[in-house]
Formats: sequence, structure tokens, C-alpha cells
Amino acid sequence: MKDIKAYFLGGGSEVGKLGLVLEIDDTRLLLDYGISPTSPPSYPMPAPPVDIALLTHAHLDHSGMFPYLVREQDAPIWTTDLTREISKILYVDSLKVARAEGYAYPYDKNDIKEAYYRVIPINPFETRPIGDFELKAYPAGHIPGSLMFEIRNSSRSILFSGDINTINTRLLHGTKPVKCDILFLEGTYSGRDHPERKSLEREFIDTIEDIVSKGGVAIVPVFAVSRSQEIAMVLSRSGFNVWMDGMGERISKIFLKHPRYLRSEKELKKALSRVKFVRNPQQRKHALKGEVILTTSGMLDGGPVLWYIEKLRKDPKSAILLTGYQVDGTNGRQLLDKGSISFYGVSQKVDCQVYYFDFSAHAGHTQLVEFAKGCSPEKIVLFHSEDRKPLAEDLKDFAEVIIPENGKVFTL
Ligand SMILES: [Zn+2]
Repeated sequence: MKDIKAYFLGGGSEVGKLGLVLEIDDTRLLLDYGISPTSPPSYPMPAPPVDIALLTHAHLDHSGMFPYLVREQDAPIWTTDLTREISKILYVDSLKVARAEGYAYPYDKNDIKEAYYRVIPINPFETRPIGDFELKAYPAGHIPGSLMFEIRNSSRSILFSGDINTINTRLLHGTKPVKCDILFLEGTYSGRDHPERKSLEREFIDTIEDIVSKGGVAIVPVFAVSRSQEIAMVLSRSGFNVWMDGMGERISKIFLKHPRYLRSEKELKKALSRVKFVRNPQQRKHALKGEVILTTSGMLDGGPVLWYIEKLRKDPKSAILLTGYQVDGTNGRQLLDKGSISFYGVSQKVDCQVYYFDFSAHAGHTQLVEFAKGCSPEKIVLFHSEDRKPLAEDLKDFAEVIIPENGKVFTL
């Protein structure tokens, strides 16, 4: 590893459409290759020919361009078997959304199949040779199946974090630092910390208790991957009448087929056994008479959640409990800022109470700093962030911090 060249195809200075090209000696690697899932999506720069493509996890901002990549070139994809399953479902779903909304998409069903077959599954803690260095995968604590990648030889080592979480959640164990010389660190929560998890969970339950006791329904918008299972586990012992609608059930089944990625298969099974699943329009009406509805999509930009809100939007006793950060331009953001939602293009006022609970799957600012310290790197490359300055400020006390721009080559 004499000479390491790197550049971001996207996702350097923003959250979304991530792609990193790493050139180490004579080998060229691609780490993640995603889209920004806006409508229509925005795409990273084209990837050069690479020897191996590495995928940290299934979220579309990291994975969304892989079916396009396999159409353009024949590099193998290394990721977990679980990420392979989940990303395939997300690709098919995003293709469906593109068709429904009438914009062109850079790949088709055959490319999705090819992306699936191109995967050579790698397990957490597995080591694999690449030329005269080796690659090791570590669990990232972000969503089930998520990885960090270490690339090393006897003289130097690089760690690519992907998206990480360092705290234990109901669903997952937090990740641990890995000693390295060069750390590529995500900075989603640069400058922002999360509330303490236990008290957040308590507040969430208490809020629902209050809504239900006054005769309202709690609508809880969730992402199908990870958040719906996490919230089902938080509610597991609450005794509420909980319904789940949307893709969450299907994703839950896949998680249970791969229990080694979970903190506790038993606890997830138990939580899901206490949930009723909406599988037809009749059950949707039953769910409206229940107490809690977990439903996609997490940012209210589609999915069954709009149906429920449309039914309950004039009921001030009912509430919408957002469970994750709402990106600018989404319905969720509009609800928080203006108290309204666009239903299929028409903006409508929502009289329900609105709450925001920060059940993030990303490490907060302080946790990122702790993690980076534990890795004791000489250099830290910050990416995947809207504002890297606050994090850079705290990291420069113990490492050289690099803040690359998309498309600009830097050497390490
Ligand atoms: Zn992610």
C-alpha cells in the first residue's frame, strides 16, 4: 500500500448517492454505490471499471446503483447474504415507484437479478485476500446485515465505516472501533446528539398511552427495513393493540431467516407475535379501530401511511409519531414544519397531534468522536454529512481530518 488514491462519486459532502473509489497499488475498489431516493432520484457520477465492488448495507443511498453497475461492468459484489436479499426487494420497489411516478430508471428487472447473482456473500469477521492485501468485514450496528470494511497489509490499514451505530438497540448490538491508520467515517449526525435511548423509549410509550387513553389512534410511520422491527420490539411489552402495515412484515420474515445478524432472534419473534399484520383492505379498516399502527413509509412519501392519515387527519385526539429524521422536501418534513401533508399532489391540513422521536440508526456526534478515538487513526476522511465542520472540529485534536469534495482525487 504505497500509494492510495481515493475519490467520491457522490456522498462526500451530502447524505445520499454515496460512492467511493479506492485505488490501492494496482487494485481499484468501489465502496458503496447509491442513489438519493428523491422523486425523481439523483445519481452519483459514473463509476470507472473496478476490480471488486463492496456494499456495506441495503439502504438505497448506499446500494441503489448496483443494478446499474452490473449492466456496465462485470466486477463481483461483496456483501452479506442478508444485504443481498433486502437490497433486491428495495430495488424492485424503487423500480415500481419510478413506473408509477413516470420517470426513467437506469436499470430494469434483469439488472436486478444480475446484481443478486453477482454477489459473493461475505460474513461478519470473515477475511478475504485482495491482491497482496486483505479485506475483513465487521458488523456495523446500523441495520441487520450492515458491514464496515477493513483493508490492510502489514504496513497500513484502512477502515471504511459505511453507516454505523455504536449503541445497543433492541434489534442490534452497537459496533466497536477497529484500530486503523486511515478511517473513512460517516458524519450524518455531525454536530447533533441523540437523546438517551431508554428514556426515549419510555417517553414514546407514555405518549402512546396518553393518546390511547383519550380515545385516539397512534400512527407510527416507519421504514420497512429495521425501524418497523425496532419499534415493534420497543412496544413488545406495552400491551397495546398494535398493527403493522406495508413491507415491514416481509422484511421481518427475511430478518428471521438470518438470525445471526440479530441481537436476539427470540425477542424479535416475541415482538412480532404480538403484532397483527394488515394483509387486505378489510384488515386496514380493523387497524383503524386499533391503538397503534406501524406503517410505511417512514417519511410519508407513499405507502399505506397516507391512507391512515387521510382517514384520521381531522381527528385531534389521534397522533402521528415520527420515528426518524425527516429529510427536506418530504411529506414528513412538511408535516413537522407546516402541519400539512400532500396527498397525491394535493396539500391538506392535518389536525392530528404530531410528535418526533429520534430512533436513529446512526451514531450521534459524541458517539462518532468516541468511535474515531477508539480506532486511533492518523487520518480521518469525513463523508456522508450535510455539515462536516462540527465533527472535524472535535476530531482534529487527535488526527488529521480530510474533508474531500465529490469527484476530487486525494492521496493518502
Ligand atoms: Zn443506512
